[in-house]
Amino acid sequence: MKKIDYREQALKILPWVCASCGRDFSGKKLRELTVHHKDHNSNNNPPDGSNWEMLCLYCHDNEHSRDMDAEWLATEDPDRKKVPISTHNPFAKLASLLEKPEGKKGKDGKE
Ligand SMILES: [Zn+2]
Ligand SMILES: [Zn+2]
Repeated sequence: MKKIDYREQALKILPWVCASCGRDFSGKKLRELTVHHKDHNSNNNPPDGSNWEMLCLYCHDNEHSRDMDAEWLATEDPDRKKVPISTHNPFAKLASLLEKPEGKKGKDGKE
C-alpha cells in the first residue's frame, strides 16, 4: 500500500496547535507537531481530517504510552531523528555491569 503523506495534508487543514496541551507549533517548532490518528489506524486518512488530531511529540508519546502501536513511529520525518525523544539509555551500561557473565547460562541452558 502506498504511504500517504497525511502529515502534510493534515497541516493544511488543521490548526498548528497541539490538540492536547494547546501549545502553538507554527514556525520552527512545527517539526514537533505530529499527526495522531484518532482510531490509531494510520491507513485511515479521510481527506476531511476527521481521523486526525495534531499532537505535539510529548502529548503524542503520552497518548501512545500504553500501547506501542507503530502508527506514529511510522511517520517518517528526517527531522524527527534530531529530537531526542528516545535517547540512548544511560543505564544500559549499568545493567550490563550488574549482569556479569558467570558462565551460568551455558550450563543451565544445555542440560
Ligand atoms: Zn501537546
Ligand atoms: Zn497517534
